[in-house]
Amino acid sequence: MPHPIDSVVNTSKTSRRNLIAGATGLLALAGLGACASDKSVQATPVNHVAVPKTPDDVLKALAEGNQRYVAGNVQHPNQDSHRRDEQAEHQTPFALIHGCVDSRVAPEMLFDQGIGDLFVTRTAGAVLDDTLVGSMEFAVSAPYSVPLLVVLGHTACGAVTGTLKAMEANPEDPALPGEMDDFAEQIAPVARSQEVSGTGSAAVSEVVKANALAVAKQLVERSEIIRKAVQEQRTRVVPAVYDLETGEVSWLQS
Ligand SMILES: [Zn+2]
Repeated sequence: MPHPIDSVVNTSKTSRRNLIAGATGLLALAGLGACASDKSVQATPVNHVAVPKTPDDVLKALAEGNQRYVAGNVQHPNQDSHRRDEQAEHQTPFALIHGCVDSRVAPEMLFDQGIGDLFVTRTAGAVLDDTLVGSMEFAVSAPYSVPLLVVLGHTACGAVTGTLKAMEANPEDPALPGEMDDFAEQIAPVARSQEVSGTGSAAVSEVVKANALAVAKQLVERSEIIRKAVQEQRTRVVPAVYDLETGEVSWLQS
């Protein structure tokens, strides 16, 4: 007499075999083999040929991509093997997105872009340091000369919330453990300038917005290369805030 568990396993295996056989049969009846299936996967992404060249055009392309993402109507442009091969030879990014490390704020996804479209830099709270600014200068310099740098904060940012909690615990000298203190040191003055109180969502949202504006301003003040590109109207620095719940990016006036 088989052990009860063996009989369960055997039944399960048999069911799975029947399911696979049934699925294969259905595919054969529908005239769909493995090749046809692979072809449909390859054909899904759209390849955009035109690369936006001016700050206005780039802003429009990103805003349209975000609208597709919000509406659940993404095109997944420039993500197929043809695009990968083409970009392996020469990348053609048209913007740099500087955002937070938060796992829910992925620039290529929320702007519905693909391989070779965006430079991306990310730190907790989107704060700056020398190496990071160097990476941004790389994007603004030839041969890439991206026309748009986006500083992207987001709602419910953990780095901002953590800083506000540290400020609540010790208003004079807020501190976070280890190197995390570095982003607290940069966010705390922004929070003080907004005179917010507590760590509620309204206070966090206000500091997130003020921080995106402050980082965009700092970037231009701090980097001669970026400042020159902005002055010559080759590049624009635009602060923005991403809403975790709606997926929408709100563009801020800097
Ligand atoms: Zn964050």
